[in-house]
Amino acid sequence: MTIFKADKKFEKFEEVTPELLKKEGVKLLLCDLDNTLRLHSEKEPADSLSEWVSECRKAGVMIVIISNNGRKKMMQKFCEPIGVDCVWWAKKPMSKKLTEAMEKYHFKPSETVMLGDKWSTDVLAARFAKVRAWQVEHRKHVV
Ligand SMILES: [Mg+2]
Repeated sequence: MTIFKADKKFEKFEEVTPELLKKEGVKLLLCDLDNTLRLHSEKEPADSLSEWVSECRKAGVMIVIISNNGRKKMMQKFCEPIGVDCVWWAKKPMSKKLTEAMEKYHFKPSETVMLGDKWSTDVLAARFAKVRAWQVEHRKHVV
């Protein structure tokens, strides 16, 4: 394992199923937003995203969005309807916001995964926070 390589790779976030999260003992899923859960241009959560979030929640997995995007109002407007906490201007690959989220919600690094599309921010931040790094392919079109 190199620090640049994700522990698991997926084509898209929908492949990270509640079943897989359960099997892997994941209780806190930290997610990048842009090009991971949505295209950069999407203003509202897609139905597939809302459904995925609620399925994860039913399986007892908490999702927190950790984004380097600095547009606080846009982030809040996007995340509020799906009922997930979000952190903007996270400055990944710095791991401070990942660690803060684990502390805030009382999860251990061993129960946590960081899911994102970029190794230079998401994967590295996961490494620094000592959590598993799962990577999705950069989203290029709406599915
Ligand atoms: Mg991204």
